[in-house]
Amino acid sequence: MVAEQLDARGIRDPRVLEAMGRVPREAFTDEDDRKRAYEDIPVQIGWAQTISQPYMVALICEAAAVRPGQKVLDVGTGSGYQAAVLAELGAEVFSIERIRQLAERAEDKLVTAGYGQVTVVLGDGSLGLPEEAPFDAITVAAAAPEPPPTLYDQLVAGGRLVVPIGNRRAQRLEVVVRTPEGPAVVHSVPCRFVPLVGEEGY
Ligand code: SAH
Repeated sequence: MVAEQLDARGIRDPRVLEAMGRVPREAFTDEDDRKRAYEDIPVQIGWAQTISQPYMVALICEAAAVRPGQKVLDVGTGSGYQAAVLAELGAEVFSIERIRQLAERAEDKLVTAGYGQVTVVLGDGSLGLPEEAPFDAITVAAAAPEPPPTLYDQLVAGGRLVVPIGNRRAQRLEVVVRTPEGPAVVHSVPCRFVPLVGEEGY
């Protein structure tokens, strides 16, 4: 997976490649889908949601430029896989999910896989997590019509918001940096995610 799907496609951060080599992805898919865990596709995890394609997780993590010890908010826990990769990068991770069953299952899977330090929260992640703000980075694994202002406001100065922006069919993964002059989009690549449902989503 790391060699063929990530390295060969231009993921360059060695820390991201190593972290994704270490996290057992099969621990985050459903029992019946374990053999599909390393395929180059998003895989269903129930409740009409998916564990993101490995390449998309790598893109998000690389774009977030997370350093050890930084505080990160992961919006859209889903299976918990992305949260585990962020934890493997050394971040203090808070992960928020709106579907109770997914949040509970992800929490179990994170503990079983050795990432019990990740805090999973049930709620509307389009509004962030004000009680734990500010964050060095906020990653969003679901597409929004525009970068949610409330998430931007929960970044430290120089912090990075990584979020897919667009309609339900076509989106771009944007990296929005908090600067003294306001939001600066520093990077943008085509992508496709499930919709962010909520106050500042769809
Ligand atoms: N990062 C996940 C991918 C999950 S797919 C993984 O690695 O498996 C996106 C997830 O975002 C879904 O589980 C969906 O329920 C969740 N989601 C959508 N809108 C949300 C919102 N407003 N707040 C929190 N979670 C949301």
